[in-house]
Amino acid sequence: MADETLRSPGIFDGHNDLILRMITGKVTAAALREGTLGGHIDLPRARHGGLAGGFFAIFVPGTDENAIRMEEFSKPAYDLPLPPPVDHATALEITRQGFAAARSLQAEGVIKVCTDIDSLEAALPGPAMAAVLHIEGAEAIGPDLAELDEFHALGLRSLGPVWSRPTIFGDGVPFRYPSDPDTGPGLTEAGKRLIGACNRLKIVVDLSHLNARGFDDVARLSDAPLVATHSNAWEICPHARNLTDRQLAMIAESDGMVGINLATGFLRPDGQMAADMSLDLLIRHLDHLISRLGEDRVGFGSDFDGAIVPEVIGDCAGLPNLRRALRERGINQRLMQKLCQGNWMRVLRRTWGG
Ligand SMILES: [Zn+2]
Repeated sequence: MADETLRSPGIFDGHNDLILRMITGKVTAAALREGTLGGHIDLPRARHGGLAGGFFAIFVPGTDENAIRMEEFSKPAYDLPLPPPVDHATALEITRQGFAAARSLQAEGVIKVCTDIDSLEAALPGPAMAAVLHIEGAEAIGPDLAELDEFHALGLRSLGPVWSRPTIFGDGVPFRYPSDPDTGPGLTEAGKRLIGACNRLKIVVDLSHLNARGFDDVARLSDAPLVATHSNAWEICPHARNLTDRQLAMIAESDGMVGINLATGFLRPDGQMAADMSLDLLIRHLDHLISRLGEDRVGFGSDFDGAIVPEVIGDCAGLPNLRRALRERGINQRLMQKLCQGNWMRVLRRTWGG
């Protein structure tokens, strides 16, 4: 590449679904070390694009017949039917497969699983991607929370109580546009206990899929900075998955942060999950988030391997195009460093200690 500075600083990213590609049998750890044709992330492309690492989500997919149908996102307004709840035994089995997938990724040198801030910062330069293990939707955890200790011992350091379908802990927002995020009840009693247990174990509580009342419950109960790993500004794209100014004020108050989601359906003002969009729109979200949160509380949360991203980025090898766009809009190197990794490191240090 002509301009090496476009790969630097390495981006530490708030959300990807690479492990889902492994759980569903699409790809192996060995293939991800060598390079793959499909998907958004593998090790060679991560190095090429300067993806230093991020939160690697373990997610329990629904059955194929219940899969989210992407064509629904092309209607002017939509409210996708959510997949039915997943039973605990199935979720536990698949979540354990997810941790096993992470171990095999580490054995192949694709990721380095990091469980404290010093090892995370040390891993950012590579050669493997620095990985924080995250659970997206806590269906694998029962009401007595016993599995949380097992997962913590396996390296879990971040958790979203819900993906969009309901769990015993609470309700997520649906894929609904336009809609505000106040779409259902708040956390259950088990959900409130889960927040306390995450605080004790210093596991990040991710707000990205929670509805507004669940968000408020976490804000009231949690002693950690409020974090939405992969969400955007509702003022610009009024999707249920995005954050209202009221929520952004609460995140700022807690000294937390938001990772900007590259999913086009949460970026575009029309809510369409369509890849043909200018990065000017992403800059509008960035400007809005910085205006509400300040420069120290915004980063990235790509949703690579889980969403349709702008075609000008394409996959993680295209991150230099994102850096170029930011630079052309006058983002200086000091702010670039914060957006790409510094802010995530600050919030994780505050949450985890160390
Ligand atoms: Zn998600």
